[in-house]
Amino acid sequence: GDTTPIHGREPRPGGPEWIERYRGSLMNTFGDPQRVLVHGEGAQVWDADGNRYIDLLAGIAVNALGHAHPALVKAVSEQIATLGHISNFFTSPPQVELAEKLLALLGAEGKVFFANSGSEANEAALKATRRTGRTKLVVAEGSFHGRTMGALALTSKEAYRTPFEPLPGEVTWVPYGDADALRAAVDGETAAVVLEPIQGEAGVVVPPEGYLRAARDVTREHGALLWFDEVQTGVGRTGDWFAHTPSGVTPDLVTLAKGLGGGMPIGACIGVGDAGSLFGPGNHGTTFGGNPVATRAALAVIDTIERDDLLTAVDELHRLFVEEFSSIPGVVEVTGRGLLLGVVLERPVAADVMKAALDAGVIVNAPTPDRLRIAPPFVLTSQQARDAVAAIRSVLAEVLP
Ligand code: PLP
Repeated sequence: GDTTPIHGREPRPGGPEWIERYRGSLMNTFGDPQRVLVHGEGAQVWDADGNRYIDLLAGIAVNALGHAHPALVKAVSEQIATLGHISNFFTSPPQVELAEKLLALLGAEGKVFFANSGSEANEAALKATRRTGRTKLVVAEGSFHGRTMGALALTSKEAYRTPFEPLPGEVTWVPYGDADALRAAVDGETAAVVLEPIQGEAGVVVPPEGYLRAARDVTREHGALLWFDEVQTGVGRTGDWFAHTPSGVTPDLVTLAKGLGGGMPIGACIGVGDAGSLFGPGNHGTTFGGNPVATRAALAVIDTIERDDLLTAVDELHRLFVEEFSSIPGVVEVTGRGLLLGVVLERPVAADVMKAALDAGVIVNAPTPDRLRIAPPFVLTSQQARDAVAAIRSVLAEVLP
C-alpha cells in the first residue's frame, strides 16, 4: 500500500511488535488484530508502519463524521474542559438537549434512557419489555443485538450463543422478512417484537416492502411492543435519520448506539409514548450513561449532519457505490440503503477479498462468507469512493478468476 508518512512524522516502529504485546495482554475475543492503527483523518486511517487506508467500515458504522472531524474534536474538547462527568443524581444541558433532539428526529413524544453501547441500549429495552408483565419475545432469525447475556438471548448465531447457554428470555424465532410468519408468532402473551429495520450483521438484508408495517399492525392488535434495533442503521446511516423512517411506522422502542456518538461510546433506548414510562425511579441505571462528553459529542454529530447536509451526501455516495460495484464481474448484487451496503459475491470468498483489500489499502469487512459490508464515513469523498472500489475490483479479479 501507499506509505504516506503521518503528517510528515517518521512512521512509528513496527506493527508486529504491538500485535505481540496485544497477544500478551488482551483477552483473545477477536483473534489477532488485522493492523495496528495510529491515526485517522476524514475517511482515511494510517497504521503503525505509516501505511494509509481508505476506511469503508468506519469502526463498523460508527465514525459517521470520519476521523478527527473538527466539530467533534471541538465539542468533546470543550465539554471535557468544562464538565466531564457527573453522577446520575444530576443532569447537564447536553443530556437533556440530546434526548429532546432524538425525539424531534423521531417525530414522536417519548422518553430516552442513555447507555454506553448498543448492547447496553438493548439491555435497557429488554428490561423495559418486562415491565409490560409479559416475557415472550418474537425475534428474527439472522438477528444481531449484541453479546451481553440479555442481548445475546436475542442474537441468533449459534456460534455466539451455544457456549453461554442457558440464556435469559423466552424467544420465538421467525424468518426475517416474512410477514405471515410474524403474524402467526405474535399473540396476547408477546411482550415485544424485536427487529432490525435492515439486518446488519446478517450481511445487510433489507426486508420486503410492508414488513415493518405488518409488524406494527400485529403488535398493536395483540398489545405487544414493537422494538426496532437501529444500533447499526440509525442516525443517518441509511440516508434517513432512522432506517424505519420511510416505512411511516412508529415503533414503541428504538435503540441506538454506533453512529450516535461518532466514536464516543454512547447508546440510547428511546421509549415512544407510553413506552417512555415503562421505567420508574430505581428500575435501571448506569454510571456513565448520558455522560456530558458523550452526549455533547452526539449533539455535534447530529448538528454536523444537518449543517453539512450529509444525508444528501449519503444518498449520492450510495448511488455511486451501487453503480460502481454492480459493474464488477463477480458481484451478484448490492443490497442495503444509504451507506450501509452489502456487496454480494458469486462465490464465498469475502474473507479473502477483505484481506487482500486491506493489503491494497482499503478497509471493508465480511459479515458472511459471500458478502462484503461497506459502511464508510459520510464525509468520504467521491474520489476516495472510486479509488476504493477500483482497488476492490482488482482484488476480485485476482481472487475470483
Ligand atoms: N444491535 C445491532 C443491530 C448491532 O449491529 C450491534 C453491533 O454490531 C449491536 C446491537 C451491539 O452493539 P455494541 O457492539 O455497541 O454492544
